[in-house]
Amino acid sequence: MATKNLQELLDEGVDGRHILVRSDFNVPLDDDGNITDAGRIDASLPTLQALIDGGAKVIVMAHLGRPKGEVNPKYSLAPVAEALSERLGQFVALAGDVSGEDAHERANGLTEGEIMLVENVRFDPRETSKDEAEREEFAAELAALAADNGAFVSDGFGVVHRAQTSVYDVAKKLPAYAGFLVDKEVETLSRVKDAPEHPYVVVLGGSKVSDKLGVIEALAEKADRVIIGGGMCYTFLAAQGHNVQNSLLQEDMVDTCKELMEKYGEKLLLPVDVAAAPEFDKDAEKKIVGLDEIPEGWMGLDIGPETAEKYAEAIKNSKTVFWNGPMGVFEFPNFADGTKAVAEAMIAATRDNDSFTVVGGGDSAASVRTLGLDEDGFSHISTGGGASLELIEGKDLPGVSVLSA
Ligand code: ADP
Ligand code: MG
Repeated sequence: MATKNLQELLDEGVDGRHILVRSDFNVPLDDDGNITDAGRIDASLPTLQALIDGGAKVIVMAHLGRPKGEVNPKYSLAPVAEALSERLGQFVALAGDVSGEDAHERANGLTEGEIMLVENVRFDPRETSKDEAEREEFAAELAALAADNGAFVSDGFGVVHRAQTSVYDVAKKLPAYAGFLVDKEVETLSRVKDAPEHPYVVVLGGSKVSDKLGVIEALAEKADRVIIGGGMCYTFLAAQGHNVQNSLLQEDMVDTCKELMEKYGEKLLLPVDVAAAPEFDKDAEKKIVGLDEIPEGWMGLDIGPETAEKYAEAIKNSKTVFWNGPMGVFEFPNFADGTKAVAEAMIAATRDNDSFTVVGGGDSAASVRTLGLDEDGFSHISTGGGASLELIEGKDLPGVSVLSA
């Protein structure tokens, strides 16, 4: 990557300089506004701490949820400011606006090693505007927070696939650098995409085949095994001629699945049994059945134990694993076994076989934490759902390519 990175900025020196950072703090909140998974906040800390330690005056921009261009207290970054304060062990102020008077006053008032947040950048409709002039104007206001010898650090990997103001346009207004997280994500995912050590196992699940086609096409050629689970596997099973009853099914993808099965043959691993339920419910009854035995009107909500064992075996023998998409509805504890088995096999492969194991995809990463698994047991858990998939598919990431000048 021909981008300048944070280390170069730190070597130049950041003492007393205003450094504008784009982080990804788009964390899930419960009904009371409590953060239920702080993974993304934790992943932002190395960059922020390094800037603080270097004596920078740190101004962080981020979005939360979909406030759709309007100020909405429900999507305030207040819980994030609090979580950051706790983790960094110092006060993190939150401006009352995004690029207005309060943000500017607070930025001017920062002293060396202090850090502040501006409010949710998506409170401003110009953040996601398609109109370049509008974004340009907003970018100028944001960049002015770090006027005079300032710099921009792009560290919100989860948003680098979006050409939005705080990700893309602002990078053209200031000397721009890739933060530690963006750097590590790009390096790790590029290794999985371009130079995997074999045996290379790709594990795909999640809800829809259509969402994962690009990844299958990008990785299947290089992979030795492509493991299919999750909601998407039922379209493959239907293509094999099984009656999947009420399981998730994309009828318009059945032919595509047939073509993929013909093209990749033995390389594709499909379920041999499923955990079925009479309804989509946390407390639904569970029955382990063969592929032709899903009771009438029931649906597959997880891969079965025999499948899980087969998948785990392939993973344990790997030297590289890329996993995207849960094997079942892991949000229902009764249907989390398949996802857990795959994740545990990845941890075992990392530990016992020195395998390079990468988790991509928002829900997959969340499942690791929900299921109480050891995050450090994997080589890497990506913080970017869409961004990690787009990188893997070989698409341009505007928020990264804008950094290489
Ligand atoms: P990721 O965010 O990791 O890329 P996806 O968004 O593609 O993953 O899919 C995650 C969702 O897929 C989860 O919320 C999970 O409940 C759902 N899912 C997995 N298996 C099934 C299934 N058999 N039926 C319905 N939904 C499923
Ligand atoms: Mg998802």
